[in-house]
Amino acid sequence: MIAYLERFVHGNDVESRQDDDDDCSSLFNALDLQGTIDCLATGLAGKDFGGLYSSKPLALVRPSGADDVARVVKAAARSSSLTVAARGNGHSISGQAMADRGLVMDMRSMEDHFQVVRKNGTVFADVSGGALWEDVLKRCVLGFGLAPRSWTDYLGLTVGGTLSNAGVSGQAFRYGPQTSNVAELEVVTGKGDIFVCSETENSQLFFGALGGLGQFGIITRARVLLQPAPDMVRWIRVVYTEFEDFTRDAEFLVTRREGDSFDYVEGFVFVNSDDPINGWPSVPLDPDQAFDPTRIPQTAGSVLYCLEVAFHYRNNDHPSTVDRVVNRLLGRLGFLAHLKFEVDLRYMEFLLRVKRAEEHAKANGIWDAPHPWLNLFVSQSDIADFDRHVFKNILKAGIGGPMLIYPLVRSMWDTRTSVVLPKDEIFYIIALLRFSPPYPKGPLAEKLVAQNHEIIQCCINKGFDFKLYLPHYKSQEEWKGHFGNQWTRFVERKAIFDPLAILAPGQKIFSRMI
Ligand code: FAD
Repeated sequence: MIAYLERFVHGNDVESRQDDDDDCSSLFNALDLQGTIDCLATGLAGKDFGGLYSSKPLALVRPSGADDVARVVKAAARSSSLTVAARGNGHSISGQAMADRGLVMDMRSMEDHFQVVRKNGTVFADVSGGALWEDVLKRCVLGFGLAPRSWTDYLGLTVGGTLSNAGVSGQAFRYGPQTSNVAELEVVTGKGDIFVCSETENSQLFFGALGGLGQFGIITRARVLLQPAPDMVRWIRVVYTEFEDFTRDAEFLVTRREGDSFDYVEGFVFVNSDDPINGWPSVPLDPDQAFDPTRIPQTAGSVLYCLEVAFHYRNNDHPSTVDRVVNRLLGRLGFLAHLKFEVDLRYMEFLLRVKRAEEHAKANGIWDAPHPWLNLFVSQSDIADFDRHVFKNILKAGIGGPMLIYPLVRSMWDTRTSVVLPKDEIFYIIALLRFSPPYPKGPLAEKLVAQNHEIIQCCINKGFDFKLYLPHYKSQEEWKGHFGNQWTRFVERKAIFDPLAILAPGQKIFSRMI
């Protein structure tokens, strides 16, 4: 079998397509997988949502379960240079799920594992690492009236993919990121060993894999914490002209105890103009609602701020009770009068809200265009300066897509995981989600990448305390800087769980060892 693998790796001598076919089927037979291997139609595996990078893998493996994953990793370990990348739904921006001339594992092809588990009065769902969160949502809510507590905004992402980063949305202030809401993982390490791990069992692997950028193992199963799902959500947007007012209210809401705040808190910056993508029209929640710009004070600047909140309730809650609680919470906030938008919708519809944007973008050809996105975590102490230099200056004309900003609470994050955060107890996630049409209708992707660099450089020059979220670096030196005093722990974990650096080569943190 190794001979077959070596031939692939060094295989410039492969003469014909027929040879490729033969070798591939030999490789497949040698590995004895339940799933399949495709050495020709690997197109999907060499691309991602970012559309900025592409690579040619040796083969696309469709594992059927953890045993298949382990066999493939072990085979790669026995070769001299093969790498293995788990590919969730390929929604990375910078080739993180790719393996140039390596094996890409399509995690979505894993057998559909789903089981509700009750333990010591707590309910969990055991789900496959390759499951899409939207499917987890549907099964939990429709089958059991339960739901995970912490989400991402968009649910066409896999469980293993978001757990390898953090998984953040408007619930994270209360429950922490998705990495704070799993009790157990099944992981295939870079040695091809299959381990069940948790806070108390193989804990180094458990915490290493959470936020571990795929470096220590491939998550084949996760045990996700559940809670009763609400029936309905009141989704509300309110507008601010002053950044200080916006952040004061957002921070007030994320530091209240449960029952005395909203269930979801996010926000975004928008342009003070009639721009259909970044301006006033981006604020209303329903086509029937209109944004009345005459309500904006003359003193307002080039950008405005929108606080987005949601309140969960049940069908049998009396409408006047819901109104009373929501109005009491809103009454403590200092947004602009008459610039409030709200809709009531079913809980699943709320969580699947970005799906509508996806359908729209697909219809316009924007979904498949390049997406040079930038995600940052910025400490509270630097956020006003960040607003002044970045939103009010560099990005004052918008980015052709949402510019999210909302506060998160550091103590809800487990520092034993591999995620790195800025120092303050409150820090902000900034997500610049560019959705421009492809060039020449839209700007050149390189120009947008250059603007991202300008923003990062601005943060460095001003001495802001920040970290990249969904980081992307090209050299180990930069990765060292990213991890800071956690670098040593990261390297130690790598040496234990993936000593040959076989896994997730697209992150460009470690080079494959011979
Ligand atoms: P991939 O891109 O396929 O993989 C990402 C990395 O994880 C790769 O290094 C890969 O090798 C590794 N990996 C994948 N599966 C596994 C596994 N099972 N075990 C170990 N490693 C694995 N993030 C948020 O936090 N909040 C959001 O609201 C949010 N919204 C988004 C909306 C859109 C439209 C997009 C495109 C992205 C969004 N993201 C968000 C970012 C998203 O969480 C990450 O890009 C994530 O990596 C994508 O998941 P994926 O399943 O596509 O992973």
